[in-house]
Amino acid sequence: MLDTAADTKIQNVLSALDRALAERNIEDALALFTEDCYWRDLVAFTWNIKTVEGKAGVRDMLETRLDEVKPRDWTVDDNETPAHADGVTEGFIEFETEVARGYGYIRLKDGLIWTLLTTMHELKGYEEPSGHSRPLGAKHGDEQGEPTWAEEREAELANLGVSTQPYVLIIGGGQGGIALGARLRQHGVPALIVEKNERPGDSWRKRYKSLCLHDPVWYDHMPYIKFPKNWPVFAPKDKIGDWLEMYAKVMELNFWGSTEAKRASYDEASETWTVVVEREGREITLQPKQLVLATGMSAKPNTPSIPGQDIFAGIQQHSSEHPGPDGMEDKRVAVVGSNNSAHDICAALAEAGVDVTMIQRSSTHITKSDSLMKYALGPLYSEEAVANGITTEKADLLFASIPYGIMADFQKPAFDQIREADAEFYRDLEQAGFMLDFGPDDSGLFMKYLRRASGYYIDVGASQMIIDGRIKLASGSEVARLTEDSVVLEDGREIPADVIIYATGYGSMNGWAADLISQDVADKVGKVWGLGSDTPKDPGPWEGEERNMWKPTQQPGLWFHGGNLAQSRYYSHYLALQLKARMEGFETTVYGLHPTHHLS
Ligand SMILES: Cc1cc2nc3c(=O)[nH]c(=O)nc-3n(C[C@H](O)[C@H](O)[C@H](O)COP(=O)(O)OP(=O)(O)OC[C@H]3O[C@@H](n4cnc5c(N)ncnc54)[C@H](O)[C@@H]3O)c2cc1C
Repeated sequence: MLDTAADTKIQNVLSALDRALAERNIEDALALFTEDCYWRDLVAFTWNIKTVEGKAGVRDMLETRLDEVKPRDWTVDDNETPAHADGVTEGFIEFETEVARGYGYIRLKDGLIWTLLTTMHELKGYEEPSGHSRPLGAKHGDEQGEPTWAEEREAELANLGVSTQPYVLIIGGGQGGIALGARLRQHGVPALIVEKNERPGDSWRKRYKSLCLHDPVWYDHMPYIKFPKNWPVFAPKDKIGDWLEMYAKVMELNFWGSTEAKRASYDEASETWTVVVEREGREITLQPKQLVLATGMSAKPNTPSIPGQDIFAGIQQHSSEHPGPDGMEDKRVAVVGSNNSAHDICAALAEAGVDVTMIQRSSTHITKSDSLMKYALGPLYSEEAVANGITTEKADLLFASIPYGIMADFQKPAFDQIREADAEFYRDLEQAGFMLDFGPDDSGLFMKYLRRASGYYIDVGASQMIIDGRIKLASGSEVARLTEDSVVLEDGREIPADVIIYATGYGSMNGWAADLISQDVADKVGKVWGLGSDTPKDPGPWEGEERNMWKPTQQPGLWFHGGNLAQSRYYSHYLALQLKARMEGFETTVYGLHPTHHLS
């Protein structure tokens, strides 16, 4: 329900907050918050991605940061209409700090701040050149005769990494490295992307041939250039590959394909990395100030060790190595695992007439793609949302405004609806022997993704194939061992196999740091991803943010970037600002750098 009084209500609270913070009166500021409040900050207050919880959390953050941040000019965004529903008044807000302009979102309960999101929008004096301040391009008057754009670009490509050093080196040129590279380009931060594949987009092209994005187009845009209106809802992987290749070119990214980073070390005294890369067979040493690992969260294969792997006579491959069903027509295939990749791979094999068995070791959450769109994603990311004025930028901010501490409560109703609407489908699946779950607290797919990045399948048809028996199912038991030609389960069942595909997921991204830098640095940084929810595969203690992603780590100058397309799009903005600020010499005191609790 729209409510014009909501605007005044929010503005009154913001004005009181403005006064209290200007006077450094933390008691008065705290009086404006509910006891169970959350303040999520993306860089603006903390030079970190951090949520503080409860009045004690807010107090500590303000006591530590207020003098330096000097926030001011808190207002409701005039262009948006605040809303009031179910006892919560909410709306978009603007504010400034000493060094930046900020944007955010507020929710009031009983007239007090329940959730507050503050984000850094831009650094003052370092705004991205766009709109009225876009570059001219053409060279007029005295500039005529100067090098053309093409000549300048050619010189830049020839020199960067050779006679000049990038400020930022991004290892990995998937969508994550590319999105961050595009942001840094707009900020004028010299950045180089090294990618061991030949071309941008190859990390998608090399996946199994049936793969299409599981997320719909409205959720998947890259920064700056949106997909056109005729782009398919679920883009096939090779199409995404081509888009990324086009994108890297027109966004003028410095992208070295066929270049593998081999090793890296950090010199504390000069605060500089030395990174050795192999480019087309030749070793080159780079010396960036900042090193970003955009090597993929779903890229470091996690393959289980199973007795008998050495005697199995057939083919064994991790899902990331599986090209698709071609050539497997007369084989018996066992797929270990029951999440997205396992389902996609099994469906493609079954469609090709292959005898395929899915081995399900533990329960999996399933949401039908249509239902996910209708009940969960649709309100923010859909054609209807766009028609309702919810741009991608607005949707991203609204999603970011929900603190992880209460996100499960926001998610649960949508998944309750899905469970009810698709009750018959779930019943059939369970009758087929499939072990289902909706997450440890029934909060569904997104929370599983945010907590552990695994444990679910967005159903685009494989579930019906399980129900119909076209994909055979062996569920409820771990794999005990392999024989020469079968998989033996702990309960004694034996599944004959010529091919075993391990769709067993991926390891933590600090494994990349171990490979490239050292085990010590990987251990110092600790596990990447997970909120600390103390649910399966997301051990506590509670962090309240994704561990180590897009923010400072325990290793100076080392950053991790990635996630799905939406996260790469959104968080690359904040990572780019953090890197830009460092390059320009801003004081970037980090509040709440998280301690390391888990090594991997
Ligand atoms: C099967 C599958 C389906 C998915 N579906 C979706 C979806 O529908 N929607 C969505 O948003 N996300 C999806 N994801 C998740 C995520 O978006 C993808 O994994 C995506 O590829 C991540 O992009 P990235 O750039 O972070 O990593 P990647 O695409 O994995 O790119 C990392 C790059 O780093 C390179 N690299 C690694 N080590 C080195 C080195 N030493 N030197 C140089 N280069 C190196 C690799 O070659 C690779 O190209 C899916 C993931 C998988 C596995």
